[in-house]
Amino acid sequence: MLNIVIFGPPGSGKGTQSENLIKKYNLAHISTGDLLRKEISTNTQLGALAKSHMDKGELVPDDVIIGMIDSYLDRMGNVNGVIFDGFPRTVAQAQALKELLASYKTSVAVCLNLEVPNDELMTRLIERGKTSGRSDDNEETIKARLDVYDKQTKPVLDFYKKEGVAVNIKGVGSIDAIFADIADAVDSKNK
Ligand code: AMP
Repeated sequence: MLNIVIFGPPGSGKGTQSENLIKKYNLAHISTGDLLRKEISTNTQLGALAKSHMDKGELVPDDVIIGMIDSYLDRMGNVNGVIFDGFPRTVAQAQALKELLASYKTSVAVCLNLEVPNDELMTRLIERGKTSGRSDDNEETIKARLDVYDKQTKPVLDFYKKEGVAVNIKGVGSIDAIFADIADAVDSKNK
């Protein structure tokens, strides 16, 4: 299986580049943020819990997220591989993913680290907020999310560096040029 973690701060282009990866490599896609927003829009208990964290820019607790991934993998069926988008966001999640995938006799092939400077992220996210309808795309919550990324999520990169699967990708420029670098990185890890 070709399992890809698409990694980077909010606004780094994970969702956009996931779409490109799905098309090129015919992979399944799981975005924990999208799943949580679905829970919110259908007014579930999990949605209410998630919203209380998301509206402050905080992470949703690990056990909730890991449970979601566990049941997703359980139902996924026969796929070429999975793109993990917005997950893992903590080292505990990365460790749990490693163990879950091991039970399917597979692992993360590559962690694509999209690098974008903070001022560019801020501009992109404020622009996205004008059309996304996302309650967390406002200046105050964006600042909190970038801070949470630095403190809680960045260490995940060291986890994947130690695993020998992390690749840095310059996330600024045209979407196509960035994707060309991504495809090179995936192909070199997928030989
Ligand atoms: P995203 O759509 O990936 O930007 O996620 C939006 C929000 O959902 C985040 O700011 C978190 O509050 C929550 N969230 C999404 N994925 C995770 C995750 N893997 N762990 C914890 N919280 C998450």
